[in-house]
Parts: sequence; C-alpha cells; structure tokens
Amino acid sequence: VGWVLQVACDVPVAVSAAGVFDYAPIELNNTPLNLAVPEAWLGHTVLVPFGKQLLVGIVMGISTTSEVPPAKLKPIQAVLPFVPQMSGHWLDLVRFMAKYYQRGLGEVALPALPIALRVAKNFVWDQTTGEMTLRTGMRTWRKWRALPPSPALLNVGQALNLTHAQHVVLDDLLERRHIDLRPQLLFGVTGSGKTEVYLQYLAHVLQDSADGQVLILVPEINLTPQFAARLNARFGMETVVTLHSGLNESTRLMNWWRAASGQARVILGTRLSVLAMLPNLQAIVVDEEHDSSYRQQEGVRYSARDVAIYRAHQLNIPIVLGSATPSLETWHNACTGRYGLHRLPERAVKGAMLPEVTLVDVQKTAAQDGLSEPMRRTITETMVQHHTTLLFQNRRGYAPVFYCGHCGHIHDCPNCAAHFVYHSTTRHLHCHHCGQQERVPKTCIKCGNADMHPIGQGTQRLEETAARLWPKAIVRRIDADSTRKKGELEDAFADIAAGVVDIVIGTQMLAKGHDWPNLNTVGVLDVDSGLFAQDYRAPERLFALLQQVIGRAGRGQQAGRVLIQTAFPEHPMWTQVRTHDFETFATSELAVRQQLGLPPFAAHALLQVAAPELKQALAFAQTARELALILIADHLEFAHVTINAAVPMNMMRLNRQERAQILIECPSRPRLQAFLAQWQGALVAQKSRLMWLIEVDPAEI
Ligand code: ADP
Ligand code: ZN
Repeated sequence: VGWVLQVACDVPVAVSAAGVFDYAPIELNNTPLNLAVPEAWLGHTVLVPFGKQLLVGIVMGISTTSEVPPAKLKPIQAVLPFVPQMSGHWLDLVRFMAKYYQRGLGEVALPALPIALRVAKNFVWDQTTGEMTLRTGMRTWRKWRALPPSPALLNVGQALNLTHAQHVVLDDLLERRHIDLRPQLLFGVTGSGKTEVYLQYLAHVLQDSADGQVLILVPEINLTPQFAARLNARFGMETVVTLHSGLNESTRLMNWWRAASGQARVILGTRLSVLAMLPNLQAIVVDEEHDSSYRQQEGVRYSARDVAIYRAHQLNIPIVLGSATPSLETWHNACTGRYGLHRLPERAVKGAMLPEVTLVDVQKTAAQDGLSEPMRRTITETMVQHHTTLLFQNRRGYAPVFYCGHCGHIHDCPNCAAHFVYHSTTRHLHCHHCGQQERVPKTCIKCGNADMHPIGQGTQRLEETAARLWPKAIVRRIDADSTRKKGELEDAFADIAAGVVDIVIGTQMLAKGHDWPNLNTVGVLDVDSGLFAQDYRAPERLFALLQQVIGRAGRGQQAGRVLIQTAFPEHPMWTQVRTHDFETFATSELAVRQQLGLPPFAAHALLQVAAPELKQALAFAQTARELALILIADHLEFAHVTINAAVPMNMMRLNRQERAQILIECPSRPRLQAFLAQWQGALVAQKSRLMWLIEVDPAEI
C-alpha cells in the first residue's frame, strides 16, 4: 500500500508532542465496513500494537509519506466494530483542542470515549468464530443495537406559561438563531426562570430538525437532580440521556452510544459531555456558565464552556450561556458586543422577590460557637414559622486546625503543605488535599502534652452546635462526607424539598440550582477569608458563590432573608452583594483587571513542574525559562510575550511532590498560542523525567 494511517493514542505529550503514530492499513474480510478508499478509515477506532502492548486508537489522518521506514511499519490489528465512526467535525474538534491546550491528539481524543471502549484488553476474539466481542458491555451494546432508532416523542410535558420577560427573551433568541450566531448570554437572577426559557427554546430547535440533537451542559448532575427530572418530564425519558462521571460503566456506555448514534436527541451532561460524538448537534446550552466545575483539572485541562463555544462556532449552530453571575470573561464579551445579551432581572414566580440581605458585624455581636445572637434569633423565628434555614459553612470536617495548647504545634499533613482537618465522625485527622488519614494522637507529637484542641469551625461542629441549641430541630448536614453512600444525597434533598427539615447545614454543594420553596432563611458563616485572598479571581468566585447561596432563599411565596456574618462590614463588595448588583461589581472588577493587565485583557498560560524536591522543580523551571527567553529573542512576533520568574507554587507541596511554576502572559492569544507550541517542543526535547505540563487559561495563578 502506498499510504499510512495516522492513529491517535493516549500517550503523554512528553513522550510524543503530536500524539499520533503511523500504521499500515490491513485488508479486512468479513466486515460490513468498506475501507477500500483511504479516506474511509478516518474516524474509525482501531486496535494497534504499541511497544509490547495493544492500544485503542482513533484514525485521525492518512498520509502518503511516513518517517517510519516501511520495514518497521506495523499494521493495525483490528477495526473496532462497536464504536460509531467519528465524524469529520468531531475529528476537527479534537484537532482544535489539542492545538489550543498544547496536548497530543490522543490525549484529547481517547478520554472522550467511555472507559469500556478505551481499554484494549476489553476486546476479545472468539477463537472459533473469529468474531470480536467486548468483555464488558456486550449486553448493553446488543440491547442498544436492538432498539429501532426512532425520533422519539417530543413535548410530552406541559410547558409553563412564560412571564412577559421570559417571552421577550425567548422570542429574541428564536429570532436570532438563524441570523446571529454569536454566543447569547442569558443573564438572569436566581429563580428568574432561565431553565424554562432553555426548555422552550430547545423544544423549538428540536421541532425544526426531525433528527436534530441538543446538548445541555450543567456543572453537576447529582447535585441538581431537579434539572434532569424537568428535562425528562418535558421531552420524555426516551429522548433524553445524561452523561456524567457518576454513571456506572455500562449505563455510561449505553448513553454514549445512544448519543453517538444520533438516537438520543437531548443530551444533558457535565463537562466531559462536551466531547461526546453527536452526529446531528443543532444547539448548545451552558447553564451556570461561570461555574468552575467546567474546568477539567486532570489530564487535558480544558474549559468545557470554551470548548462548547468553539463547537457551536465550528458547526454554525446557536449557543446560549446562562448565569446570574456570568464569568468576567463572558460579561466583558457581552458588554463589548462579541456576545448577545438578554436579561431576566426578576424572579419568575409571582410575588417571589430576591431576599433582603443583612450584615451581622461579628466584631460587635460576638459569635458563640460560630453563631451570633441575631443569627440564633433568626433561626429560632424561622423554626417557629415552620420554615427552613440554610446555614452555609463552606468547610467540611469538624475543625480546620488541630492545635497543641502547650507548645502551639499544629498537626500538618506529611504529604502536603496543609493542616490536617479534624473529623469528629471518624475521630481522625484528614488531609483534604491528598486524602491521608491519621488517628488523632493521644499526646502532641512534638511536646508530648495532652492539651490538644480542635480550632475553628467546620460543618460537623456546626451540626453539633445546632443540635445542642435547638434540641427539637431536624438538622441535616450536607457535604462530601455526609453523602458518600448511594441514595443519601437524594434522601436529604427529598426531605428538604418536602419541607420537613428545620436546619440545613451545607457547603457549596448546596449552593447550586435547587428550588426549595420552604427555605426562606439563609445564614452565611466564615466567608471573610475570600475577601482578602491572593488569587485575582477570588472576588469573582466569592461574589458568584454568595449570589448562588443567597438565591436559595425566598423562592416560594414567603419573602426570603439572608444574614451574613462578617468582621469587615465596610468592605466594598458587601454593598453589591446586598443589592444583588452584579453589574456594578463586574464593572469595578473589570476596571481593576484592565489596569493590571489581567484576563480578559491578556491571555495566560502556566508551566507547572513537580518533583520530589522543590529545588529540582525550580531547576527545570529555570531551564524552561531560559529556553523561553531564547525563543523570544529569536522571534520578533514573540516580543510581547512576558515570562515571569520561576517560583514555588502557592500550594508548594502536594501529595509528596514539590511544585514550581512560571506564568506566561501575552496581550494576544494567537501570539501566545504560537509561542507555546514552539516552547513545548523545546521542553519535550529536554527529555526531563520530572512531571511538567503547560496549562492554558489557568484558573489560578
Ligand atoms: P433559574 O434557572 O433562573 O434559577 P428556574 O428556571 O429554576 O430559575 O425557575 C425558578 C422557579 O420559577 C421554578 O420553580 C420554576 O418552576 C418557576 N417558574 C419559571 N418560569 C415560570 C413561569 N413562567 N411561571 C411560573 N413559574 C415559573
Ligand atoms: Zn495531604
């Protein structure tokens, strides 16, 4: 044969910057696939020999030349009949992401498949029939194959009568969907009925195209089960699939297949679903577009929101971004006209108002056991009225510090630059970064004294306090520890929705999307540290989180109220928090960002290096910096790329690794991209054995 297949395999960028490898095609008998023409191979998933192992790969390209000498060129082993052929658009999406995020094609492409299809060992040949089967998932596949792909029922559920404001937005979105393909921002306060607008909008899109598909991205599915329930009720269970990491392997496989084959028409998913193969995608909605869970933090670090925007652009289809507190990037784009802007300034339910927010100065009214007198009084009043109070304490565990009163020693995690958190439920010290757990020492490990105390407050301590102060109250704590067992979270949500809970204590797990009419009081504790955090995005994150938490109150007919305990009542952010004034907040934050040359007014990338010892990490970072400076000196077009000093990371030690970083800044994103591609090549050539990676658009610097 005069040509080779370029197959993407999941191999780290430090091994192969491109992530594709050349293989010879094979002749296939007994297959329905017609692979006589080279182009027909594109997008097929294959098994290939790689060193001594077999890997699953995806054919990304074909070429008439190869750097591998013909004698050394290995043939592919098999074409996998279970995986739908990936479309040309999907392959382009992978190419875009690999280039944008400076990763290999395989590193991007393979993790987009369900695990069952990614592992070569899962594919077995039947020796007698020569047929290939899947070790796990075969039943699921047969079941899925047996269904007739039907354009399932639409509009089985009743749509709500829109408010005037919702109507205006919906009509405007519908009108623009063919003529204005800028991303459209739906900026609506909590409870303004954004979800209803999405549903009716998507219903129109689905009616337009008999087998069209729509993708709805949400930050978290398990934490907001109401969303999935509403979609199912509206479009019918047959039409909707969910894609998220909480599904078991065979359900995930089934759902992925149904989406990839075009059988499922409404796909509701978390960030990973932005990479799903969807052959007939017609529109995308990104709910809570500002949410940090859209950021993939392992493997290829991408922003699912940004990838979704690219995907819509690539397909020429509309995309709607929704939020009560848009990210400053998105807000900036809406204000400068790069995105369309639609507003829902009021709550949808008749009579429901945004809650009144009161600050409690804890310098004046001291908090006992974390709760000030006004806070206690309000909780008691709420209970007497048979309503629910939400106490927001964004720290799980019992106490964040375990301290020796004699010598002052604080017990720290041996693996990380972090204090151990004391958990009363397990009576252990836990590290919230690496997971290390240790028994509580009987005496201080430093001085031997037995005078040790937990200091500060987490959700477990608050739960203990609430039970003591209100012995008759029904209290539910909701955090990552209280909801590990299957069904626990659902049960707690059901109780709160039924209105039988007096006090809910929770972390940010509770902040998102819930609609509980009986909840009319919210108490916010311990958020002051966010006012003064180093990270430049901290104010943006805190403002969004507070609006989300505050937004849980007063969704029913009862007016809601919010009490925030703070030692800094004069801090300027509080004025905007109290008046729910996102726009003023965003304008002043953006002015600061512009002055300091921070995103969205510049693009960032971060080189991170991890090593057993900091000095090794810093040494590699220093070498990387010198290579960067040489590149800049040699290329006029890189003149505006700034390379900062190699420094230890904020959280220097994590999981027994010590870490250093370099921040790269540039006013122009394309210039930065061009620079990073060359720099990465130079770094790979160093063949360092340390772990390093380049993160594009990092969330924290
Ligand atoms: P958001 O997504 O903006 O936070 P939701 O879509 O969850 O808001 O709506 C908040 C509440 O208002 C929900 O209980 C929803 O059922 C209700 N709602 C939304 N639109 C309407 C409407 N047009 N008429 C009556 N209730 C509505
Ligand atoms: Zn640790």
